[in-house]
Amino acid sequence: MPYLDHAATTSVRPEVLAAVEPLLATLYGNPSGGHAIGREARRVLDEAREEIADFCGAPAQGVMFTSGGTEADNWVINGVLDASATSEQHRIVTTNIEHKAILEAAHKREKWDALVVEVGVDGLGRVDPHEMADASRGATLVSVMAANNELGTIQDLRSIATEVRRVSPGTVLHTDAVQAAPWLDLAELTQGFDLLTLSSHKLGGLKGTGCLVSRTSVKVAPFLVGGGQELGLRAGTQDAIGAMAMAVALRTAVAERDEATSRIAMLRDRFLAELAKSTGATSTAQGATVLPGHAHVVFPGMVAEELLVAFDRADLQATAGSSCASGATESSHVLRAIGLDRLAVRGAVRFTLGHATTDLDIDEACSIIGRVVAQLR
Ligand code: PLP
Repeated sequence: MPYLDHAATTSVRPEVLAAVEPLLATLYGNPSGGHAIGREARRVLDEAREEIADFCGAPAQGVMFTSGGTEADNWVINGVLDASATSEQHRIVTTNIEHKAILEAAHKREKWDALVVEVGVDGLGRVDPHEMADASRGATLVSVMAANNELGTIQDLRSIATEVRRVSPGTVLHTDAVQAAPWLDLAELTQGFDLLTLSSHKLGGLKGTGCLVSRTSVKVAPFLVGGGQELGLRAGTQDAIGAMAMAVALRTAVAERDEATSRIAMLRDRFLAELAKSTGATSTAQGATVLPGHAHVVFPGMVAEELLVAFDRADLQATAGSSCASGATESSHVLRAIGLDRLAVRGAVRFTLGHATTDLDIDEACSIIGRVVAQLR
């Protein structure tokens, strides 16, 4: 069963399973408990926090655990605006290809106290750092994703940070690094940024854990109030096992990064070449620097929904655009943003390889796709 939807979620890494399983029965303490069982959970939680912080170039107290990437993205929008002292209207500057967790959270604030500027991208999904900087003048927050979930396009974060800081030194800089995290060096990638978002299940950890990481002393207002956990910023009993699983997933991804990047990029390139030969499929982000696992393609003259149903029947899993709650395919704001024409959008499919993808998966996927496309044509 070739699974080519790793950007939606990836399988739990064996190293994570091995670390988590023995603890499920024993590590049940509340990390806030002032007794031995609680202290053990606190120790595991704090070790995970330190390790994740280290990989991000952040101080340990900069890692604030959340339920995932969506929560961290929502938090950053509201937390940065609420902590900002200005009495004037806030300006949030972002791009028109961000994940909906950023875009919808930002636009929600427009009802009250914010103006949202969505900077456009070029035909390959790249934002121009100068355009970003021009728009960011006087902004409370700039949020730019490190790599796009649909196309895999990687942004030039270093130039964006430099240009935005030059034009608007007081602006808080955030990046959603959910897709980039399995593949890129987070500390290097996010230099010059204040805040970043991570999600464990994209790394091969467990669903239900993510974090908002602060590399600097930037102020972020609390998101959940109650028991005062996470330095009083995000209340709720912490999940020490989930945090530990995330640290193990990130540690394993970092240890395997060089080997995995070249192996997966080679598999992806073979996959794209075979698809082009057998079906005429074209690669959407050809020419951009993309994550090694992403293969976003257009099957000319075909309808993605029909293809995906037929792929699913043949035991191949992929998706059109990003995966939304209903599993339905809605017209992708990312494909509109890069100016893909309507007919091409209709035939657009995202295949994403991940840490568990094998040569055999690609052989089988190519043969299923070739067969399905020929049948539907
Ligand atoms: N940001 C990006 C770029 C994503 O790809 C996703 C998930 O698809 C999210 C945020 C949301 O993360 P989570 O599923 O952990 O809420």
